[in-house]
Amino acid sequence: MKKKNVFSGIQPSGRLHIGNYVGAMRNMIDLQDEYFCIYGIVDYHAMTVRFDPEEMTKSIFNCTIDYLAAGIDPEKSILMLQSTVSEHTELAWVLNTITPIAWLTRVPTFKEKQQDNPNYLNMGLLDYPVLMAADIILYKAEVVPVGEDQLPHLELTREIVRRFNSYFGETFPEPKEKLGAVKKILGLDGVNKMSKSLDNCIYLDETKEEIWKKLSTAVTDTRRKRRADPGNPEDCNIFTMHKAFSKKEDIDYCARECRHAGIGCLDCKKILLDNIVAELKPIQARRQELLKKKDYIYEVLHDGTIRAKKIAHKTMDEVYERIGIKLYHNAGQNKLS
Ligand code: SF4
Repeated sequence: MKKKNVFSGIQPSGRLHIGNYVGAMRNMIDLQDEYFCIYGIVDYHAMTVRFDPEEMTKSIFNCTIDYLAAGIDPEKSILMLQSTVSEHTELAWVLNTITPIAWLTRVPTFKEKQQDNPNYLNMGLLDYPVLMAADIILYKAEVVPVGEDQLPHLELTREIVRRFNSYFGETFPEPKEKLGAVKKILGLDGVNKMSKSLDNCIYLDETKEEIWKKLSTAVTDTRRKRRADPGNPEDCNIFTMHKAFSKKEDIDYCARECRHAGIGCLDCKKILLDNIVAELKPIQARRQELLKKKDYIYEVLHDGTIRAKKIAHKTMDEVYERIGIKLYHNAGQNKLS
């Protein structure tokens, strides 16, 4: 039976943190056997904020290494750079013409980005959910591994698909989300989402000492004021991190002992530290190896582009047929008269 297609993208916007890893990347790795996965380093999306071209070049390289080190296997999946498959923007334009502006202004992330970038509001910020829809449906992906914060974008993608299908005939499937077992971990402040700009992250390439420095001061259950106070694991971001990284016996032990003040928060964090380090260690080792293989990184991306383009071209052929311009796209072959 033909495997269903999956698409997901990660922006090349600097170092990856454990929030990226738990929210989307781990899920992306797990899906590789069951589905045919197309994973994009979505550089066009990273251009919606001010960026330094030199940094962009480096970030794309590092992001590719992060994907591979974490476990994306280019033998099983396609790993490619979005801007090298021009069909992404071709399809985005077609979708732009059927997407009402009101659908885009109501997207919660647009409102957030308006607040974060009051002096740099650009069309890309408003329009990027349409590009995201194009990214997904270009490969007729039926499943999208996403973090919880991306759900409104996926709903918008489904709305755009329904509209396209109703205007031009059944063409695209409606993609469904695939959330990870732990949907989201908050930043070390215990309030905001893990984010580089808020400086509340643990990065995938950090050492045990660096992680401990951050973890030891991370916010826990705010109602637990003293060591002798019983805690509430369900209201504690450290416990959510345990659920994302720790073995079941450690999770059960911390929850039980926290509730009757059998352990302090530092004890609990030390157990978490060991579990995070155990998961990150092999990823960090692979990363070091990959850093020595520059040519291999470029080959993976080049090969990914060729394979992605084959699928993308076929979809665009169908789209151009549906919207009545295919004849002109094949002008050379058809000899227009
Ligand atoms: Fe959170 Fe652990 Fe402290 Fe309980 S013991 S409040 S789960 S850090």
